[in-house]
Amino acid sequence: MHPATEALLRWYDGNAREMPWRGIRDPYGIWVSEIMLQQTRVDTVRDYFVRFMRRFPTAKALAEAPEEDVLKMWEGLGYYSRARNLQRGARQILEDYGGEMPRDPEELRRIRGIGPYTSCSIASIAFGIPVPAVDGNVIRVISRLRNYTGNPMEPKSRREIERMAAELVPAERAGDHNQAMMDLGATICVPGTPDCGRCPLREFCEACRAGTAESLPRLPKAKPPREIRYDVLLLRREDQTLLRRRTEKMLQGLWCFPMAEGFRTEEELGKYLNIRMKLPAEDLKTAGRARHVFTHQVWLMNLYAARVPAETPAPEGYAWIPVDRLAEMAMPAAMRIPREILQRGETEDILP
Ligand code: SF4
Repeated sequence: MHPATEALLRWYDGNAREMPWRGIRDPYGIWVSEIMLQQTRVDTVRDYFVRFMRRFPTAKALAEAPEEDVLKMWEGLGYYSRARNLQRGARQILEDYGGEMPRDPEELRRIRGIGPYTSCSIASIAFGIPVPAVDGNVIRVISRLRNYTGNPMEPKSRREIERMAAELVPAERAGDHNQAMMDLGATICVPGTPDCGRCPLREFCEACRAGTAESLPRLPKAKPPREIRYDVLLLRREDQTLLRRRTEKMLQGLWCFPMAEGFRTEEELGKYLNIRMKLPAEDLKTAGRARHVFTHQVWLMNLYAARVPAETPAPEGYAWIPVDRLAEMAMPAAMRIPREILQRGETEDILP
């Protein structure tokens, strides 16, 4: 075993972070945790993981559930394509693998939503297969440990990092080693200023010796997210409001209030509703503002309330939903503020 690996495992034995999925060997549970952890903080994932596993304890339970239930359990976690892919993957496991997840990383990669990192993570943690699971944390630790200045976004550099990471994976305890690398990257070898004084790899670390750790890895500058303006409509038809189930790739399958891109005046918006959506909404009232930041987009939302007559039908793709049932609907976090405004009855205060 590489001496750096030994030092890392010793540190992990005394410092592993406690998480509800730690210590489990069930590949399905590990898979669920890894998908939830993509782009999401550990503290956020804890409760979601416990609830999700209680509701869908096996790949079979997940495969057979209605998609709406899966999205509801995912509500607030964001990146909903993860939930949809997880369910499609569970169906594949049932159909193609008799309900048992395969052990081989290459085979795992055939399952919907499982990429190189997740396949190696499942294979090493659940089955002890000695392969490196290389995510952003591990890229950072390896780049620093080897003082590697290549851009990890480039395939050639990425392969080089994976090769260096593989050198450290022990034949025994591969899963612990991969989890130790993740913990080290999340708690000590953090972006910006690493805490080298507390690091179990310090004596092996070339960047620490060279004083270059803070500048590694050499990532290209990220583009700022694009701002998109929306008018969002909180319509009241007696005790109901109008929702639309999204068909777009982003947030597909989730329910949103009617939205129109661009900021309009109340008069323009009234015309838009009448002509484009056949909704006789007049006398629109400003109901507030909201803002939601996604990775590549920021939604700036002006909220408007209006009443429509009791017999108004829902346009195609929309549905009238009782306001007191809004909590049951799978809605993205971007709709939290408008949903709360309706639930608190604020539209009733401002509408005639
Ligand atoms: S010594 Fe510092 S830079 Fe090197 S791996 Fe440890 S925390 Fe990261």
